[in-house]
Amino acid sequence: MEEGSADIALIGLAVMGQNLILNMNDNGFVVCAFNRTVEKVERFLQNEAKGTKIIGAKSLEDMVSKLKRPKRVMLLVKAGSAVDAFIEKLVPLLQPGDIIIDGGNSEYRDSNRRSKELKNQGILFVGSGVSGGEDGARYGPSLMPGGSEEAWPHIKDIFQKISAKVGNEPCCDWVGDEGAGHFVKMVHNGIEYGDMQLICEAYQLMKDTLGMTPDEISNVMEKWNKGELESFLIEITRDILAFKDTDGSFLVEKIRDSAGQKGTGKWTAISALEYGIPVTLIGESVFARCLSALKNERVEASKKLVGPSNLKYQGDKEEFIGHIQKALYASKIISYAQGFMLMREAAKEFGWKLNYGSIALMWRGGCIIRSVFLGNIKSAFDKNPDLQNLLLDNFFSEAIQKSQESWRKTVSAAVTLGVPTPAFSSALAFYDGYRLERLPANLIQAQRDYFGAHTYELLTSPGTWHHTNWTGH
Ligand code: NAP
Repeated sequence: MEEGSADIALIGLAVMGQNLILNMNDNGFVVCAFNRTVEKVERFLQNEAKGTKIIGAKSLEDMVSKLKRPKRVMLLVKAGSAVDAFIEKLVPLLQPGDIIIDGGNSEYRDSNRRSKELKNQGILFVGSGVSGGEDGARYGPSLMPGGSEEAWPHIKDIFQKISAKVGNEPCCDWVGDEGAGHFVKMVHNGIEYGDMQLICEAYQLMKDTLGMTPDEISNVMEKWNKGELESFLIEITRDILAFKDTDGSFLVEKIRDSAGQKGTGKWTAISALEYGIPVTLIGESVFARCLSALKNERVEASKKLVGPSNLKYQGDKEEFIGHIQKALYASKIISYAQGFMLMREAAKEFGWKLNYGSIALMWRGGCIIRSVFLGNIKSAFDKNPDLQNLLLDNFFSEAIQKSQESWRKTVSAAVTLGVPTPAFSSALAFYDGYRLERLPANLIQAQRDYFGAHTYELLTSPGTWHHTNWTGH
């Protein structure tokens, strides 16, 4: 295959692909655009890409011939079989040392497989998480590349230049082998579910127990966004709550309370179950969306099932808002601690060497969960790269300590008043479980031994298994 002058080819001219190409062009790279429906290439060149250095291709052969070596091809197509279909067509056109990058929301197991398959054919595969949606892709996404590390020196410059920056630091670094990049992106999306659910619980408490209007809650978000909770999601929530429809009413109150999902939160929860890591807050956040989606059933149930008669908080309003803020902060710490626990376990399972501090930095800007808080996580891992659990870092253990009275008051009030707070509550239950030296699992072991002779260990001799004839029969 001949050699051309383009730095990289990008396949997939939907919203993500087009914006990434324009971003690469702004950063001085020559990009060759291609798409399954080839007419879209010309349309793109005539419109969005007009006046730029972007070039197009008529076929995959044409595209590959226009690339410098090593040839770099990035896919931004629908996750799943479309990625495999393109890889199959690309391989015969590439040579050992050339690079295929999948920037879609692929499942990490697919990336593990593709990485292995392509390695056998001498092609370097990179599975990269890309976060930040359309705007991120255009002006600086968070990028989480993993796969064949040999590819990294050849894509680092492009990736770090187009990524978001915090100060001068790019929100992009090498994540790890095989599907590590897509695994980290999956956990990112799970954490996004958790962050959104936490904000929703705070909103419902203020709305239902304090009778606050959306613009009053928006003002609270404005204040929260100036402190430790400062984040993209709090910022957009502030704006959403203040947004008025054409008739002057708050639009948010008219939106049907049935949440959608595309599946990455569910994948995180499935992985948590698979690897036996209690990522409870993300799990509850996925289930909360599922429960919300049972709208018709809930409407029927609301006519029959009763809760507490009084929904109004009786104490001081401002004080309670302060409690809710702290509950949100403490729960958020738990959620991230759980997410990092899951990544640590996957790293063990697959033999990935993950750099947790740089993962926090990759999420610090460009993506949906970007926040000041991620800077604190980065500092914790910078101080101690082998930190077993975020909760054991002094900054976070002290932050929880300072918040926990308010956290408990918030959860108690929610339970008493009948407002569901699955994320606040499960985070607190996790914290109380994690910090206790003894849990009632001794009784579970006894029950298992009683009915199934599953045996148990004694506190005094772990590793030695005993069975008791509990009934004497
Ligand atoms: P998309 O709607 O997920 O995919 C559209 C692109 O995939 C088009 O180029 C389409 O080609 C191609 N495609 C679809 N089915 C195909 C098949 N069977 N064979 C070959 N090509 C096929 O586009 P997107 O929203 O820009 O997302 C691209 C990737 O980035 C996805 O994996 C998505 O999950 C991920 N992502 C999206 C966002 C976001 O905010 N949208 C954020 C992060 C990551 P045609 O034009 O020929 O149909």
